[in-house]
Amino acid sequence: MAILYRGENMVTQERLLSEFLNLLQINSPSKGERELADFLINRLSGLGMEVEEDGAGAEIGGSAGNVIGRWAARVKGAPSLLLAAHMDTVESTAGINLMEKDDKIFTNGTTILGADDKAGIAAILEALRVVREKGLPHGEITVVFTVAEEVGLLGAKSLQGQGLRADLGYVLDSGGPVGTVINHAPAEEDIRIEVFGRSAHAGVNPEEGINAIQVAGAILTQLPMGRLDEESTANIGVIRGGKATNIVPDYVEMQGEIRSRDEVKLNKLVEEWREIVADTASKLGSRANYNHERVYQSFKVEPNHPVIKVVETALKEMDLPMNIKPRGGGSDTNIFNAMGIPSINLGIGMEKNHSPEEYINKSDLFNAACLVLSIINTAAKQQDF
Ligand SMILES: [Zn+2]
Repeated sequence: MAILYRGENMVTQERLLSEFLNLLQINSPSKGERELADFLINRLSGLGMEVEEDGAGAEIGGSAGNVIGRWAARVKGAPSLLLAAHMDTVESTAGINLMEKDDKIFTNGTTILGADDKAGIAAILEALRVVREKGLPHGEITVVFTVAEEVGLLGAKSLQGQGLRADLGYVLDSGGPVGTVINHAPAEEDIRIEVFGRSAHAGVNPEEGINAIQVAGAILTQLPMGRLDEESTANIGVIRGGKATNIVPDYVEMQGEIRSRDEVKLNKLVEEWREIVADTASKLGSRANYNHERVYQSFKVEPNHPVIKVVETALKEMDLPMNIKPRGGGSDTNIFNAMGIPSINLGIGMEKNHSPEEYINKSDLFNAACLVLSIINTAAKQQDF
């Protein structure tokens, strides 16, 4: 039998929307989440949660740590849940100017909206409010609002080693309509290449120089880049070097990344790049340093895993279809999986995020809150988990 998520007993559209607008008004760029963290500590405490802020702020040079709230289980045997969203936005939203038209919420274009990921936060808060108000049964629930997700999942990474535990993890941080389930995401390697040439006066004794920019150029034309196959991408995104037109440059630094959902392919690509860099530099009488660093691990959750089965049932209660798919980007979901919490990323309807055209439909926001509530209800019934 379907549960009603609409109506006075359940998710309240007006309350959800007004809280979402409150969140959008609070500026929270990466490492500048202080005001939003204080707001959320207050909200979670008001919901009767045991709340703490961890030391991530000090660790990463930000103004706030991750905000973590806990409810003990009210029913025995049900799976414990992790509900997560990130507090930071990819850019500042200072001076945000909100617009509404029909179902759509957006800005006048001077800033991003920040529905990524404040829609996730709003959906979690609203679902928790309903559970609290109605005294609904639930298993143990841990809410994590992370910092600095947009600059390398730094908040989530600093949770590693804190002993965070949950049977099933739900991250509300994907585009696509509610019903979208991201169960597979790539690993990423960040690459740093340094090319060493030899400086000389470009007009007086150029033959004594080795032009590091030219060597870097030769390397660039050979590195496989762009979409390499269905599961892999690569990019050089930053290049720095040179001092003046009359100096043969002796140094170039390039930064890039390689991603793949297949670890074997990823490692092969990292080594392929290494060989191209070393061979090309040495052929041109130069030398290069090649460094790579794993930013996050890939993850894959099988469709029959309980973390997905619960969502499937939760969506059925709402008469919404489930659409399982892989994604090209990393998220806190990668880190939670690496921590041993089977986790998936859920679509919450945000569109064109990371751009001034970002928007979200109120109906998707509503469905996102209903889905969180439905997940909590569904999990609470699995008392023999
Ligand atoms: Zn996000």
